[in-house]
Amino acid sequence: MGTGKTVRIHGLGISGSYLAWRLSSESISIRAFDPAANVYSKPCGDAITLRPWIRRLLEETSVIKTYVKRFIIRVNGSTITEHKAGEPYWAIVDKHGMISYFRREAARNGLKIARGSPELKPRGPGEIAVVDARGPYAHPRESWVYAYRILARTAKWHGDTAILDFYPSLGGLYWLFPADSEGTLINFGAGFLNSGPAAARSFAFERVKADINDTVTPIDERAAPIAILSNIVVVERGIVRVGEAGGLVISSAGEGNRPGLESARLLAETVLASDDPGVLEKRYRRNVSRLASEARLSRSLLQTAARMGDRFSSFAGSLPDSFWENYLQGRISLRYLLSVALRKPGLIKYFL
Ligand SMILES: Cc1cc2nc3c(=O)[nH]c(=O)nc-3n(C[C@H](O)[C@H](O)[C@H](O)COP(=O)(O)OP(=O)(O)OC[C@H]3O[C@@H](n4cnc5c(N)ncnc54)[C@H](O)[C@@H]3O)c2cc1C
Repeated sequence: MGTGKTVRIHGLGISGSYLAWRLSSESISIRAFDPAANVYSKPCGDAITLRPWIRRLLEETSVIKTYVKRFIIRVNGSTITEHKAGEPYWAIVDKHGMISYFRREAARNGLKIARGSPELKPRGPGEIAVVDARGPYAHPRESWVYAYRILARTAKWHGDTAILDFYPSLGGLYWLFPADSEGTLINFGAGFLNSGPAAARSFAFERVKADINDTVTPIDERAAPIAILSNIVVVERGIVRVGEAGGLVISSAGEGNRPGLESARLLAETVLASDDPGVLEKRYRRNVSRLASEARLSRSLLQTAARMGDRFSSFAGSLPDSFWENYLQGRISLRYLLSVALRKPGLIKYFL
């Protein structure tokens, strides 16, 4: 039995499909549009920063390929720290499988997905919310960075180890993640503010050759945008935004999966608590404000790192271990950064 309430969702990536599943399970009827209605094919590093509820969700949906506990942090190709966590900070997931699961379960609850990308019209009769979940495609291209991702076979990686290698002068990074627990599948790639996908591709291949002195056999390669410079706006003209469409992406890490799930969960809870559109919009804005501040701070960190250029290397090397622990777990806040500045006043010189 439906509640007679309808939510319209534009975009069924990780945020939109999770929202559709959550709401349709509570008898809210969902209308959704996605140009890729049959299959989600956007590439990703497939890492999701864990939170207790996210870990339960990933286990429930059986999408975990491996957990990441060991991190090698580099700047311009030189290792500045290695961090081994007791408990995993990330899961590497079958993201396409997860989105298919959300879409399939929502379809069982009555969701009908229309293939297409119609204009986002304001709320119509019976609609309690219109949601923009179009990811980077909700933003102008000027806010995008193209990231190039390669999925490959190898004989020699480690199923629990990830490399993040920052190139602040280029405004981006190279990554190498495991894609299975045996270390025989890897996901690597790169993305830079100042260059396109072709340059990111050659950069990534050059780096991976240095990291794995072995034949790397690509299985799948593709590029997609991340709107790391987008505005952060979660409600506008009666349209509510989740995930990257709301600008909720951690620019300094290229992390959008956890913010996508967190914002979709917050919106689902807000919709279930109130069906008055005005109240709903106000509450959602408030509920998602911590995530929005985190995204805002990450834009500043990215810009600061880019401004530091080559000095970033010695700056990053002087940061305490707790910085990397927090960074890797998606827990950097202004309060934390101030506490670091108070404990290590020598760091201030890098900002002068
Ligand atoms: C190569 C690469 C690697 C990445 N690696 C990681 C990582 O390891 N960890 C991490 O946390 N983040 C990563 N990210 C970022 C992460 O993938 C995104 O931030 C995340 O997918 C955003 O989720 P979303 O639901 O907001 O949008 P998306 O997942 O982008 O979904 C948007 C949906 O909207 C649909 N759509 C597009 N246009 C329209 C339209 N006009 N109307 C209706 N629907 C539309 C699309 O088909 C898609 O289904 C990576 C991104 C890239 C490109």
